[in-house]
Amino acid sequence: MLDYHLHLWPHGERDRPPTVDEVAGYCARAEAAGVREVALTEHLFRFTQADRLLRGFWDDEPDAALRASMATYWDDHAHADLDDYVACVLAAKDAGLPVVLGLEVDYYRGRMDDVAALLAGYPFDVLLGSVHWIGTWRFDDLSDPVSMAQWSVRAVDDAWDAYTTAMEELAATGTCDVLAHPDLVKVAGHRPPAPEEWWDRLAEAARSSGMAAEVSSAGWRKPGGEAYPAPPLLARFVDRGVPLTTASDAHRLPDVAHRSADLAALLDGLGVATLRAFRGRRGVDVAVVTAVAGS
Ligand SMILES: [Zn+2]
Ligand SMILES: [Zn+2]
Repeated sequence: MLDYHLHLWPHGERDRPPTVDEVAGYCARAEAAGVREVALTEHLFRFTQADRLLRGFWDDEPDAALRASMATYWDDHAHADLDDYVACVLAAKDAGLPVVLGLEVDYYRGRMDDVAALLAGYPFDVLLGSVHWIGTWRFDDLSDPVSMAQWSVRAVDDAWDAYTTAMEELAATGTCDVLAHPDLVKVAGHRPPAPEEWWDRLAEAARSSGMAAEVSSAGWRKPGGEAYPAPPLLARFVDRGVPLTTASDAHRLPDVAHRSADLAALLDGLGVATLRAFRGRRGVDVAVVTAVAGS
């Protein structure tokens, strides 16, 4: 198994300088749960380098409350130094820890060439592509009343459609390697009566872009109460031959490798025997159970 989606800093908590010991703790907890390789994938928006590149992307949001909410969220997060983070993970790799260097990258419509140019300056192994926001609406921010109020203003079908369109556009940019939590739009528990169209489109976005899709236990910790992706979407990825990663999306040590045995059982039920690991943004197939042998 892999845990290819890990954060060092909880939301709402100011970042600390990352340390190799901290990464070693994550690796030890993963190994104890049968996970043989991890990827550190901190959010791009936690770094001052992203702040310089992307600050103000919310300025054309017509809803003043959403605009202010995003500005505050951004200011709360963009404080760490990307060079320090990269150096720490590379030092952990050099120390022999089973970790690869990653980042979780949001979709910034019209700005992904600039994002790609920034990221090309670093030796990333894997880049996760995520949609947490529809425009400036943080539909997954369960702690933000302004964001959650939107769920009673907008039609669920419209939210799923806009989310799927953003995922398709993100995939088509080729900026990232893995579609993270592919049906995150269900996070707050709002589901359309007939989601098949959106499942088909999400699976096709992965297939046509060549990206892998993430199978994540994080959904079990949220009101949606289901792993990402939903079983019918996971089956669509498998049918199309889309490579898969496994992940906890932990933002703190106790959640590292969360329910990895349950993820393994999901995959086993679909006859999935291999996962996709990454080295220098090139995919490497590894066995589900025995995971990675060397690099
Ligand atoms: Zn995410
Ligand atoms: Zn994440």
